[in-house]
This record gives sequence, structure tokens and C-alpha cells, in this order.
Amino acid sequence: GVTLRIDVPDADAMHGFGVRLGRALRAGDLVVLTGPLGAGKTTLTRGIGEGLGVRGPVSSPTFVLARTHPSLVDGPPLVHVDAYRLGSPAELDDLDLDLERSAVVVEWGAGMVDGMAESVLEVRIDRRDDDTRHVELEGTGPRWVDDQQVLAP
Ligand code: ADP
Ligand code: MG
Repeated sequence: GVTLRIDVPDADAMHGFGVRLGRALRAGDLVVLTGPLGAGKTTLTRGIGEGLGVRGPVSSPTFVLARTHPSLVDGPPLVHVDAYRLGSPAELDDLDLDLERSAVVVEWGAGMVDGMAESVLEVRIDRRDDDTRHVELEGTGPRWVDDQQVLAP
């Protein structure tokens, strides 16, 4: 798949990157976010929601595991998952997410989504000492084989 690396100077830029990513997502897309607490996963997801045109605020789904945000613009809903407290891929599977009809974003999803979808877009966020972030996108599977549009900064 395609790999992209970008520097994200501040939270606004992270949000903006999410908006661009969200505009490019379609039903069936699975996005996995990795990075430590405070890396900006939820900030990015908020942007993705805006890009998808979903209704209502996107907040951390920690206590509900998964939250569905319907689209206001005839696009797929955003399903926002926090897998931090899930012990195994089976528990994620038990949530019965509507993968085919949604754009699914999973915080702490590394190692949890194996086998869930043919294609996965992994977004790894690293926090630097100066509070900027380094973001690495890696798409695997047919969906991301050469989708420069999604991965272009
Ligand atoms: P996570 O979901 O990964 O735990 P959040 O998005 O909830 O992270 O929190 C990230 C915090 O870091 C926010 O308070 C945000 O304003 C702040 N922040 C500072 N600089 C950046 C940056 N370059 N990118 C993203 N967030 C940043
Ligand atoms: Mg979060």
C-alpha cells in the first residue's frame, strides 16, 4: 500500500488533516489510529467527522466503546471506536459494527482489527518533544493500493 509521512505542527492542523481524510473516506473504509494517550487520535477523528459531514460532536467514546454519528450529507456514518479496554479482536468483533455501510475509525486499534476487513488504513501518531506530531499513514489492501487522493497531504 501507499505510505505517507507528514508533520503536524498543532491541534488545528491535526483537525484539518482529519477533515481532508474524512472527505476522502467512503462506506466500508476501516481506519486504525495508534499513538499514546494525548497523541491526537480523538482530535483527528473529530476532523474526520467534519470531513464526512456527520451530525453532532465527536467526543472520546471511551465509556461506550463505540459511537455512531450519522451523516448529514448523504455520506456514510462515522463509527468511532475506542478499543483501549477491549481485550481481544473477538471483543471488537462482538460489537457487530456495520463495517460495510460505515466509515469506521478505531482508536487503539492496532492488533485488534486483524481479519476484520480486506483493507485497512493505519494512522500512526508520534508525539515530539516540541509538542508537534509526526503522522505516518499506511494503507494496506486493495482499497489503498494506489489511492493517492486519500493519502495526499
Ligand atoms: P488522544 O485521543 O490520542 O488521547 P486527544 O486528541 O484527545 O488525544 O488529545 C490531544 C491533545 O493534544 C489535545 O488537547 C490537543 O489540543 C493537543 N495537541 C497539541 N498539539 C497537538 C498536535 N500537533 N496535534 C494534535 N493534538 C495536539
Ligand atoms: Mg482519544
